[in-house]
Amino acid sequence: MAKIIDGKKHAATIRAEVAALPAEKKGKLAVVLVGDNPASIVYINMKKKACEECGIDFELFKLPENASHGEVLNLIDGINNDSKITGVLVQQPFPPQIIKDEVLSRMNPKKDVDCLHPYNVGLAATGQGTLLPCTPAGCVTLLKREGIEISGKKAVIVGRSDIVGKPLALMLLAENATVTICHSRTKNLAEECRAADILVAAIGRAKFITADMVKPGAIVIDVGVNRLEGKKVCGDVDYDAIFDKCSYITPVPGGVGPMTVATLMENCVKAWELQNA
Ligand code: NDP
Repeated sequence: MAKIIDGKKHAATIRAEVAALPAEKKGKLAVVLVGDNPASIVYINMKKKACEECGIDFELFKLPENASHGEVLNLIDGINNDSKITGVLVQQPFPPQIIKDEVLSRMNPKKDVDCLHPYNVGLAATGQGTLLPCTPAGCVTLLKREGIEISGKKAVIVGRSDIVGKPLALMLLAENATVTICHSRTKNLAEECRAADILVAAIGRAKFITADMVKPGAIVIDVGVNRLEGKKVCGDVDYDAIFDKCSYITPVPGGVGPMTVATLMENCVKAWELQNA
């Protein structure tokens, strides 16, 4: 039977740590939303609530779905030049007329609390980053706060996205894991997964990782968030089937998700420090 890694509990501890910091050392987070994607609005409201709880000022900058690419860049320039704003996050996905890479490169890297600016991506990749991507950093924090030794373990990550799989692979490598990244073209995926001491699923397919893909005693981190019919949320891992086989498992909801938001709060403080310390 697995130990459930309680992401909500660890996230609450981190949020309380941020809340306890002096009010003047937390700055202000600006969130940019283009359009009104319902999922984006849910995520933004979660971030707003966390900011309120942690004592971080929050402002939402909303542009209409048909806003031009130039309007988005102008908004980013305004945020860059506003010294009261110390953190910026551009909520994705963007409408098709917006050139994502140009928007991300336009942000002041010191305000980039989501670690999406290429400069910060490079620093994170070489182990020099202060602002680290929230979801992968949250996964590593979960392992560490549970007292799980990463060094020497074989970590297998299913998913190679720029926001989860790839940066998490580099972070686990920096923690001295032996890392394999799998994706949709991987041959013998089940066999790769079965070799994992730490198995991370970041795929976006409900219950994709089945019991036969998990080594007995493995540590399973489920990043996936999939909405089933009736709005029920589930992860990329077949939780019930795997529960008795692994040693640790993160639930969905209540595992990695809350850690993403908690890490964002920590990044807001770090961004303030980068600009003021
Ligand atoms: P992407 O869609 O960007 O990436 C998915 C990855 O899964 C790709 O690398 C893809 O491979 C791989 N994949 C897809 N199908 C298969 C398959 N059949 N076999 C093996 N690999 C496959 O997703 P994200 O990384 O953005 O997100 C992954 C999941 O995590 C989603 O459910 C998302 O909602 C969730 N998420 C949760 C967060 C949280 O805070 N909890 C934060 C961010 C994401 P290929 O590259 O070859 O296409």
